[in-house]
Amino acid sequence: MTLVNDEAPPAVRSAGRKFRAFTVKHLDELTARAGLSPEQRLATRAVATVLPFRTNSYVVDELIDWSAAPDDPIYRLVFPQPDMLPADDVAHIVDLLRREAPRQEIDAAATKVRASLNPHPAGQLELNVPSFGDGAVPGMQHKYDETVLYFPKQGQTCHAYCTYCFRWAQFVGDPDLKLAGDDAGQLRDYVLAHPEVTSVLFTGGDAMIMGESVLRRYVEPLLALEQLESIRIGTKSLAYWPQKFVTDPDADDMLRLFEQVVESGKNLAFMAHFTHPRELEPVMVREAVRRIRDTGAVIRTQAPLIRSINDDPADWESMWRTQTRMGMVPYYMFVERDTGPQDYFAVPLARAYDIFRDAYKSVSGLARTVRGPSMSATPGKVCVDGVLELGGEKVFALHFIQCRDADLVGKPFFAKYDPAAVWLDDLKPAFADRFPFEV
Ligand SMILES: *Cc1c(COP(=O)(O)O)cnc(C)c1O
Repeated sequence: MTLVNDEAPPAVRSAGRKFRAFTVKHLDELTARAGLSPEQRLATRAVATVLPFRTNSYVVDELIDWSAAPDDPIYRLVFPQPDMLPADDVAHIVDLLRREAPRQEIDAAATKVRASLNPHPAGQLELNVPSFGDGAVPGMQHKYDETVLYFPKQGQTCHAYCTYCFRWAQFVGDPDLKLAGDDAGQLRDYVLAHPEVTSVLFTGGDAMIMGESVLRRYVEPLLALEQLESIRIGTKSLAYWPQKFVTDPDADDMLRLFEQVVESGKNLAFMAHFTHPRELEPVMVREAVRRIRDTGAVIRTQAPLIRSINDDPADWESMWRTQTRMGMVPYYMFVERDTGPQDYFAVPLARAYDIFRDAYKSVSGLARTVRGPSMSATPGKVCVDGVLELGGEKVFALHFIQCRDADLVGKPFFAKYDPAAVWLDDLKPAFADRFPFEV
């Protein structure tokens, strides 16, 4: 089953232009195309001094509906919005930009705003990095027994950035906010020393920003480890740059690497981030999915629920149906995390549950592999199972899908109903003094 001679149809091949990134340098030109006033464009630039901006020619030419911008959901998915950050902060930076203040002054103001945005949610820097030998393993997180996350140094960017990205701090060039490693041997040794680990998840950034030869250096040493059942790849590349698997120069080599993982007796779990049904439409995506599946890899799909981008059950129903039709497996609906512009994008938990249920009840059992809405919080992944009245009290029913304390996984617990709550921290225990994860 070699893919090297498996040519894509001519229509797809000819659409394979070279990757071209758009950055802050192009922001003003692009927001002008969206019809923003000079004032709004300046405010957008101010937000982009704090939060990262990057997109590419495929997103701009194939995904965004410019006639609907700036309200278009894909436009909102990649372009910073003038009102995404506290108005005072934006006004201050607008003022600095307008008077062409020195670079250092603007950077200092931006750094200050970033520090107020909870850059590392769920205690990522303190809680998840295990010590090994003389110290921590750089670029690794080991939170749940069976799964290790690894952030390869070369995977610390994406083909485009999502405005709501919870890893935004990785992309702003501040070394204190970065999490990255480049020692494949150290990763392998750590896994060997921890027989409970059955899955290594490469993430970033986007693990698929790496070329085949770089990814291979991390993956190959793991193939001989019997204990590993799966190698996972966290990526938005199918949505933002499907050419990666069809027309890029190393597309065939990358697929060959996937095949090798499968041949080694492990699942190559391709964790695809799809935010909106439109991302599934282009013929290039269909072809990329077909080619990845031909390697024996399994594509699972996940995304957060984001106000003003995909907070409509019809969007989720459509995504889950199309994904199932294409042979992908719906996996998680996440709640937007408590970092960056969370206030702007948050959907209350009660509403998130309604949206999930509305979409879930309308799809075939084959698509009900999806779980959610799920919060990746400090103690673990908490799923909102419902809103109900118990003993005269209105409550949320919750359970852990994943937990630092594996013993709590799958046990129901309750919180007082609060229609405005957007995150675990906003909830108060019901029928108890404290939550099961609180000691
Ligand atoms: C979500 C997550 C995982 C993987 O959890 P699964 O439920 O197996 O998908 C592993 N580590 C961390 C830190 C996570 O947030």
